[in-house]
Amino acid sequence: MENIKPIKKIVIAGGGTAGWMAASLFNHHWAKYGVEVSVIESPQIGIIGVGEGSTPSLKRFFYNLGIAENEWMPACHATYKVNIQFEGWSPRSGISRYGHPFISQIDTFSEKHFYTNCYTRRLGLDVNTYPDDFLLCGWLAKLKKSPITPVHFPFVVEYGYHFDSALLGQFLCDRAKKLGVQNIQANIESVELAKNGHIKNLKLDSRQTIEADFFVDCTGFNSLLMQKALNVGFIPYKSNLFNDAAVAMPSKVIKQPLPQTKSTALSNGWVWQIPLQHRTGNGYVYASDYISKDQAETELRSHLGLLESDAEAKHLRMNVGQVKQHWARNCLAVGLSQGFIEPLEATALHLTQEAIECFIDKFESANFTNDNQTDFNSEMSERYERVRDYIVAHYKLNSRDDSAYWRDNRANMNLSESLLSLLTVWYRKGDIGAEIKRQNIQSHFGVTSWHCMLAGYGAFPALAREQPGKGDMYANEGLANFFKSCCLNFESL
Ligand SMILES: Cc1cc2nc3c(=O)[nH]c(=O)nc-3n(C[C@H](O)[C@H](O)[C@H](O)COP(=O)(O)OP(=O)(O)OC[C@H]3O[C@@H](n4cnc5c(N)ncnc54)[C@H](O)[C@@H]3O)c2cc1C
Repeated sequence: MENIKPIKKIVIAGGGTAGWMAASLFNHHWAKYGVEVSVIESPQIGIIGVGEGSTPSLKRFFYNLGIAENEWMPACHATYKVNIQFEGWSPRSGISRYGHPFISQIDTFSEKHFYTNCYTRRLGLDVNTYPDDFLLCGWLAKLKKSPITPVHFPFVVEYGYHFDSALLGQFLCDRAKKLGVQNIQANIESVELAKNGHIKNLKLDSRQTIEADFFVDCTGFNSLLMQKALNVGFIPYKSNLFNDAAVAMPSKVIKQPLPQTKSTALSNGWVWQIPLQHRTGNGYVYASDYISKDQAETELRSHLGLLESDAEAKHLRMNVGQVKQHWARNCLAVGLSQGFIEPLEATALHLTQEAIECFIDKFESANFTNDNQTDFNSEMSERYERVRDYIVAHYKLNSRDDSAYWRDNRANMNLSESLLSLLTVWYRKGDIGAEIKRQNIQSHFGVTSWHCMLAGYGAFPALAREQPGKGDMYANEGLANFFKSCCLNFESL
């Protein structure tokens, strides 16, 4: 503590979910050093207001802040999420749906059988390769079970949440204010730079001038500080990921929903279905080069059976890509201002949280100097690229033929070297786990997640003519019984 020379003041520009997550974590870690945290939010410019699904990292976020589920979940109409179910992405493979469940400790028993079956299937033999059959969360989803780990169950179960994103921001805001975070309601009109290029102050329409030692850009797609004031460039992913727009529309609550997000492929993109306590969130993510705003809305309404309904649709544009520097001078970009990868695997808040946590670690360990800036930027950039690759593979591997959109996605050769190597290894019947290790990319999407996607798309050769009817590890190891017995320990939802 004696050697630490913390900064005095951090100002966060923007009060969306990213701004309040950053404020909560900075205050939690650095209030003890006397660091003052303020959030400026515009009363006129709203938050993006979508983004209702998380990964298991959000559980860690609340745990680290000491916030219990029974405190925040009812306030945000939240439900549990253990799986993402993909429907209609690869009809030619004969697989109409598959799951990408969250991976838990107990899955170490069955993962290797899943890998073996995927290999056996790549040799042409007809064995079970449905990902959800090999993973506990896949079973919890189909049996409608709560993921809360029973007291005597000796394994950690990973799960995420669905929540109302506006209420989540509000919950974090109310709590952070009680803990001493200042909240200024005003529009930032301009950003003044010092001679050394650092941000000196923010000028507000309330005529206040706000100075700080460090600034955090959480102004969403506006990226007012990082991209506009500091002129940091943006790397678009448009050539890899075509989707650049979405239309969202709520529908009635689903009675007794499964604890999973459903992602259904439509003519020019896909639609999410997220069950909340008080309503269902739906949204069509599409590429505006292929379908107009109005056509997308009509297709979504038709998909939801809401063609005649006067329910309002919310149209959104998406800047998919990442900034060239996530931390530049005395400014960190967090949330949509730092980048966005379309929401297929609900990774945005996950990346936001990781950016904040990684920054806290790097900034503090360098005694609140910029010494770790280069490291931080390369770690963040790598994270975005590898998450992008996993999403790109969903489009590359599709086997739909109903539109130019799907055919163009399949034909798209804008693949990173990393992704190309992974796919090559898979199709050559090689060990994708070893390739992931060789590339040292296991911390992004691990071996099991890659198997889930590739098997879920039926990325296999044709079945061999001769089928010995043997070698199915799923049947041999009695995995169905194993998981059904495990699930008896969990409460029904
Ligand atoms: C279609 C879609 C689906 C998504 N789905 C998911 C999902 O399932 N899971 C997930 O994790 N994420 C998802 N996301 C992303 C998620 O919505 C965002 O990551 C999250 O809401 C954080 O947004 P933000 O706080 O960065 O920006 P915003 O919510 O846009 O907040 C920006 C803030 O900046 C303020 N501001 C802007 N300009 C000024 C100014 N001049 N002066 C003062 N204040 C200003 C605004 O008032 C606001 O408070 C999705 C996004 C989209 C577009």
